[in-house]
Amino acid sequence: MKIFDLHTHLFPARMFLAIWEYFETRNWSVHREQVDEVTATLQRHGVQGAVALSYAHKAGVAHSLNTFMAELRARHDWLYPFASVHVEDADFNEEIDRVLGSEHLFGFKFQPLVQRFDINDRRLDPLYEQCQERQFPVLIHIGSGPVANRFVGPDHFRRLMDRFPALRVCVPHMGVPECSDFLVMLDDYPEMFLDTTMVNTHCELFDTAWRGDVEALKRHSKRICFGSDWPNVPYPYQEAVDSVLRFGFEEADLEDIYWNNARRFVGLADLA
Ligand SMILES: [Zn+2]
Repeated sequence: MKIFDLHTHLFPARMFLAIWEYFETRNWSVHREQVDEVTATLQRHGVQGAVALSYAHKAGVAHSLNTFMAELRARHDWLYPFASVHVEDADFNEEIDRVLGSEHLFGFKFQPLVQRFDINDRRLDPLYEQCQERQFPVLIHIGSGPVANRFVGPDHFRRLMDRFPALRVCVPHMGVPECSDFLVMLDDYPEMFLDTTMVNTHCELFDTAWRGDVEALKRHSKRICFGSDWPNVPYPYQEAVDSVLRFGFEEADLEDIYWNNARRFVGLADLA
């Protein structure tokens, strides 16, 4: 099975170290793999395409982070780096234009849990307008797991989608823990996707079992994508791959989940 991993993380070396230290103080073991090791691990597992995510944890770092991400693409043409911005950036609007004009950046990633901004902050509207217009994808960690803050939860997301109903957007981790709320929204928003990242994995830290409406899941099998969260996960890569098999998808849909859907999300193939 060919694999396109919609959810991997790559950061500059020092940022990676800081993130790993943060995780490890919370008993969350990770794979301390820098860029070259991550790409080797992915390729060893048959990954032929992967979205690389990062996020600006504070104002003032997005531009250098996005430059780093764009350079990854120059070295690895099977990686699809996403950019990030922060609403408090002094060069916020210029950075949006730079990202949208870049040949090496393929989407935006928002992480309101860490970035601590409201996804409905009106300063973001020009970004959403342009993304919606061009079908430029946005991945937003907006489920309130593993921890909640006032910026995450399905209500924020529903408000956003009411304003930009054709936005091409992916909610990672199936929207954990509000999986059912996000699954039903797929009926309303034709360009909305979910990724399976960390769900149904055998993980000591917490219960990751998906308990949702399997019929609804199967109905939306063209908009659910495999993701791994590599290298920031406490289990082997193969465990992420195997987790997809525990949802109850039809055998015939697995090629979509592992490969086709993520390529549609990124814009490499048309939506069926
Ligand atoms: Zn992630």
